[in-house]
Amino acid sequence: MALTQDDVLEALVSVVEPDLGLDIVSAKLIREMDISDFALAVTVALTTPATPHKERLRALIEGALRPLLGERKLDLTLQADAPQGRSKLPNVRHVLGVGAGKGGVGKSTVAVNIALSLAKAGAKVGLLDADVYGPSVPIMLGLKGHKPVVNADRKIVAFEAHGIRCISMGFLVGDDTAVAWRGPMVGRAVQQFVEDVDWGPLDYLIVDLPPGTGDVILSLCQALPLTGAVVVSTPQDVAFADVLRAVKMFGMLKVDVIGLVENMSYFLCPDNGKEYKIFGPSHSEQHCKEHGVEFLGQLPIDLALSANADAGRPIVAAEPDGALTAKYKQIAGRVASKLAVLAFAAEKTEAGGEGFFGPRPGV
Ligand code: ADP
Repeated sequence: MALTQDDVLEALVSVVEPDLGLDIVSAKLIREMDISDFALAVTVALTTPATPHKERLRALIEGALRPLLGERKLDLTLQADAPQGRSKLPNVRHVLGVGAGKGGVGKSTVAVNIALSLAKAGAKVGLLDADVYGPSVPIMLGLKGHKPVVNADRKIVAFEAHGIRCISMGFLVGDDTAVAWRGPMVGRAVQQFVEDVDWGPLDYLIVDLPPGTGDVILSLCQALPLTGAVVVSTPQDVAFADVLRAVKMFGMLKVDVIGLVENMSYFLCPDNGKEYKIFGPSHSEQHCKEHGVEFLGQLPIDLALSANADAGRPIVAAEPDGALTAKYKQIAGRVASKLAVLAFAAEKTEAGGEGFFGPRPGV
């Protein structure tokens, strides 16, 4: 049976990329195609290596092409060469800030575990600890006391830990130095610092931002080319006022808010399996709806998490099959999806409606 590229493209029009809401042909995700009497080889690009939809897409594509194959074998490659995204840093596709209206809500914990979840999904991930008030990432990753080294190109070499690369302002200022810098100084220092680090190519650079909405974080956000931000909060109603302040600040800085993660939402007692809402019932999801902020999910208070964190083992690494890790992976998947959609929309605008991949083969 003769089979043409057009037959294949016609069949693939039925496959919709869930995040983009567009079929994979119109979205220009078909990268290569080779048809012989024995095989049909198709390469399809993924919007991000961390997409939660990889297996679903594979099944949909296989289902769409099966009726065309006849005696041919299908050789399907899903390729994770995401678009450049909107990051202004060379070799870095997305720069995601993790912020909070106030300290102590678990912002660094969430930043670290989202970073690890994205890496586990196959992305290249860097983590910049820019929380100059309390750089805790080195402890959480087991890097306490490590001193950064400079390579032959006079670049700072990022540390490798649990499959991600990491650099902390803590390496610069020391553990116990309370940083009394003014905002603009921090902004300049961090910008210089980021440019001086040899990150290697990254799909995601996650930035653990200082808490609050003061001049330090304002300068930081202006100095760093953030392509999106996640806000972390706890369930108390008063905490939502802080969330709104943070959301407004990111809006002012033209940084898209990806959504809110609610941490310490409840305590799941390991002895009796009961949920205790220590901070009372949460209204965050409702508040988010009212203010047009996406609610990314709730995370419980977890005894193993804090014990492991202090020992340099983030929960996603310490309990790869645990329930909390599954929640983190789900949140990270939603973040990756949303960043991919934003990148797609931005490239579309900038490229005059071309989409982010080159013209489809044979067209
Ligand atoms: P922030 O960055 O907002 O100041 P951290 O991430 O440093 O907060 O967390 C503060 C403390 O709370 C840390 O000791 C951390 O291990 C602990 N912690 C954070 N989230 C949880 C959680 N869901 N369950 C138990 N302990 C948590």
